[in-house]
Amino acid sequence: MTAHDPQGAPEQTPGQPVPASSTFPPGIADVTSVLFRQFLDLLPDALIVVDEQGHLVQANAQATAVFGYSREELLGQTLDLLLPERFREIHRRHAAQYFRVPRLRPMGIGLHLFARHKDGGEFPVEISLSPLHVGDRLYVIAAVRDMTAQRRAERERTLLLQNLSVQGELLNQAYDAIIVRDSLDRILLWNRGAERLYGWPAQEALGRISTRLLRTDFPGGEGAVRTALERDGQWEGELTQLARDGRLLVVESRQALVRDQQGQVLATLEINRDISERRQREREARAMLAGHLSLLEQLFEALPLAVALVAGATARLVLANQAVRRVWGVDWPFGQPFLEFLQAHRIIISDMRGKTLAPEELVTLRVLREQRAIALYQEQIRRADGSPLPVLVSALPLHVPPEALQGELLRQLAPGEPLALVIHQDVTPLKEAEELKDEFISIAAHELRTPLAALTGYAEMLLRQTERGHGPPLAPWQREALEEIQQGTKRLAGLTEELLDLSRLQAGRLQLQRLPADIVPLVRQVVRRLQPTSERHQLEVQAPAEPLVALIDPHRLEQVLTNLVENAMKYSPQGGPVQVRIGREGDGQAVLISVQDHGIGIPRHQQGQIGGRFMRAENARAWGIEGTGLGLYLARALVEQHGGRLWFESEEGQGSTFFVRLPLLGEESEEGCELPEDEETTPAAPPVREAGA
Ligand code: ADP
Repeated sequence: MTAHDPQGAPEQTPGQPVPASSTFPPGIADVTSVLFRQFLDLLPDALIVVDEQGHLVQANAQATAVFGYSREELLGQTLDLLLPERFREIHRRHAAQYFRVPRLRPMGIGLHLFARHKDGGEFPVEISLSPLHVGDRLYVIAAVRDMTAQRRAERERTLLLQNLSVQGELLNQAYDAIIVRDSLDRILLWNRGAERLYGWPAQEALGRISTRLLRTDFPGGEGAVRTALERDGQWEGELTQLARDGRLLVVESRQALVRDQQGQVLATLEINRDISERRQREREARAMLAGHLSLLEQLFEALPLAVALVAGATARLVLANQAVRRVWGVDWPFGQPFLEFLQAHRIIISDMRGKTLAPEELVTLRVLREQRAIALYQEQIRRADGSPLPVLVSALPLHVPPEALQGELLRQLAPGEPLALVIHQDVTPLKEAEELKDEFISIAAHELRTPLAALTGYAEMLLRQTERGHGPPLAPWQREALEEIQQGTKRLAGLTEELLDLSRLQAGRLQLQRLPADIVPLVRQVVRRLQPTSERHQLEVQAPAEPLVALIDPHRLEQVLTNLVENAMKYSPQGGPVQVRIGREGDGQAVLISVQDHGIGIPRHQQGQIGGRFMRAENARAWGIEGTGLGLYLARALVEQHGGRLWFESEEGQGSTFFVRLPLLGEESEEGCELPEDEETTPAAPPVREAGA
């Protein structure tokens, strides 16, 4: 402490203790009541009373706290105790001076005064002195203030300002508006970015309350932002502010509190980035999107197709257009699983042959399970009121990006839950047209039968009777013409039979006359009958010696085998071997018949469609081979009616093998032989094909 060391004081040994019972020398003891001492102890400053000899005669509680000595240790000691060594000498001189001209005065303002703690440490102080006359004795009261904390705060503040001004230039380079506000929100720093953004030059902005200058609008109120700043030390969010020229700005703001070591808020740092344009563009995009959406919505609703968005393994309804109600005849409530909906209204779905479809066969459920597109599958709906509706169903699995799950529509979807679009198309008009066509085919075929029979009969009669010598002999050209007529009518009769079978099949009237029969002789018989029709083909049969008995309609099975062997010959125009093999299959409960040729084969891309009605491969036409595309369709239907399966393997230019599998007698119908008709389009063509599947 560089307080004055009172010199020229009356003789008194320095360090001589003053009796503890009397803290003041005799004469003023009556002045110091207990009350007064307590009052002194309450004062925030350290108070010491020093006599002219430089002895401490009084000290309050604060003084003991500041210097670290107890009152007993202090009283009677000279002031040297509280001074750093280097100040003692000069202090004594100053004190003598003071006692000569005592007056009230502060010390240490602008000076660097230090005091010494009991532990030897120094600390900065400010001192005010005032003389105290008691009787003829003069004392000095020194109020000592420990300035440690204050000095540190000042140092930090100066440092901060220095840093700010050093960084000021750097900050000016920033594109963003950078603002530093003091604890009262007055602007301390305003970079060039802020000048550019808000239009206020720094000299006009500095010192003003930033929120008022910019009319800042806080999301959720200014209080919320302040609370967040106090709590977390930082805040980020969007603000709306006003530029000097009245433009409304949207800024992305990041704010942080700067505190001193004691945690006192020194300033708030604010970095604002202008996003007005981005927000404007977003608003425009949103408006445009809303426009598009409303257009799409109108289209969606106006579609004649019933479009439903279904989710989860149970096919809960997520979205549907108006046509969905028309197809089902009742409302399908959102969120209701498909089967629950069907059951609630006793709606039944069957295939085109009238067989009720099991839940796992329904396209709406299959698409979610199989996660592959299903196109144009035929189903028949029997609605709540009993009315039937033929439909073509197409379905497409949808892959939802995770961010779409936050949207209004798909929020109810669990992550990873399958989603699919299912479209039902009412094909009543098509069905009607098809029925008309089938009816026409049936009538035409029936009507053709009689004249055809007459033609065949008369051509045959003419040839036969002339041969027997009845009537004039025929010229060679006449015989050739008659033979041509005979061939043509035979072909026509075949076609008529096929057409009749087709219409029977469509009407569900193609009945089998099944009886137990050995298949081996039946196959041999077909081969024997067909071998003489071609010299270029060698028909071979490989069959076991044992009989293979199945429950069959021999006439229809012969029709199937004839078609396969005739095709094998017809589609091997260069001739060659045709192998027919028969054998037990797998576990011996079925018979497998295969017909293999080495002919033109079937192009891979068409293999999926072969076996459909009137379906012929391109290469068959290119080779000029005649046909209708009906034989295989009928053959497949007949095999399936036998509880069997028909399929093929083929390589274009290499040949084909057609397979027929039939259950042997006593065995159940094979599972999975109920193939869909030609309504499902299979995208890729694997090497093994179901005919017409
Ligand atoms: P088609 O009267 O045309 O022979 P099918 O229904 O018997 O009618 O056969 C349908 C189509 O399948 C044929 O047009 C032909 O393109 C193809 N096909 C059938 N069998 C064979 C075969 N063995 N080799 C090559 N293509 C065949």
